[in-house]
Amino acid sequence: MATFSNLSERLVKTFAHLRTKGKLSPADVDATVREIRRALLDADVALTVVKAFTARVRERALSDEVNQALNPAQQVVKIVDEELVAILGGETRHLRFAKQPPTVIMLAGLQGAGKTTFAGKLALRLRGEGHTPILVAADLQRPNAVGQLQVVGEQAGVSVYAPEPGNGVGDPVKVAKASIRYARDKQHDVVIVDTAGRTGVDEQMMKQAAAIRKAIDPDEVLFVIDAMIGQDAVATAKAFDEGVDFTGVVLSKLDGDTRGGAALSVVSVTGKPILFASTGERLEDLEVFHPERQARRILD
Ligand code: GDP
Repeated sequence: MATFSNLSERLVKTFAHLRTKGKLSPADVDATVREIRRALLDADVALTVVKAFTARVRERALSDEVNQALNPAQQVVKIVDEELVAILGGETRHLRFAKQPPTVIMLAGLQGAGKTTFAGKLALRLRGEGHTPILVAADLQRPNAVGQLQVVGEQAGVSVYAPEPGNGVGDPVKVAKASIRYARDKQHDVVIVDTAGRTGVDEQMMKQAAAIRKAIDPDEVLFVIDAMIGQDAVATAKAFDEGVDFTGVVLSKLDGDTRGGAALSVVSVTGKPILFASTGERLEDLEVFHPERQARRILD
């Protein structure tokens, strides 16, 4: 993924230099940690996350773990790899399904984050796995949100539940609740509820998202965040975490940028796992997020 190419290049270069050395002096370790720190900051990783990360790497790199290693430089790379996996969430976290269908998945995030696109991507993927998802338009604020979801639904080959004129129009909580009854009646086993987003975190939007969450009691609340928003990622993620207590993160537009700070900050800051990475505008451009694979991509 292009998002991490800069960071990746810098780390690979730092380690190539380190590999020219045999035993590592504390000065070598410090120089390496400084390089890692700069590379992470330039990738827009939040300062608090960078500090904690480099402190852990430094402590381990100065320990016997490295001192007594046959190949000290290689051991440092291994430590960075393990710590990267840890800040990316550790284990792969798969989507959770309800014991009793329908599984209800609510999406939240800022306007333009990629929620509607992700809704289509997830629906397409689930359909491919034999599920019978529907998309629900609970974003009734943006004039064309319902229309956009209908287009995405058509591309994904799934139906869209949208309010009929006069039938609870303007009340996304009612629409979301009704959609679950509808799904049960029509035997759809997954309901994906797209909610309204604003361009910035806004109290009214958050209240509405919280009200929808309370009304439909979702199995997953996925917070969709644009990987390109850089340093704003932390504040935005925190606000949504407080507002809707999301269960997982979707990183979108991971194809679009050479930084990737959001990815490396959001898990640490919220303690919530990343489930998916959205990597393009086509509905097929969706990956399950694997922390180990992602760390390897950064370090190879
Ligand atoms: P929403 O307001 O959160 O529903 O965001 P949208 O789904 O409408 O997406 C906003 C814009 O970002 C659209 O132009 C999408 O085509 C684009 N987009 C969404 N996901 C991705 C992605 O993973 N990569 C790229 N390059 N563009 C994306």
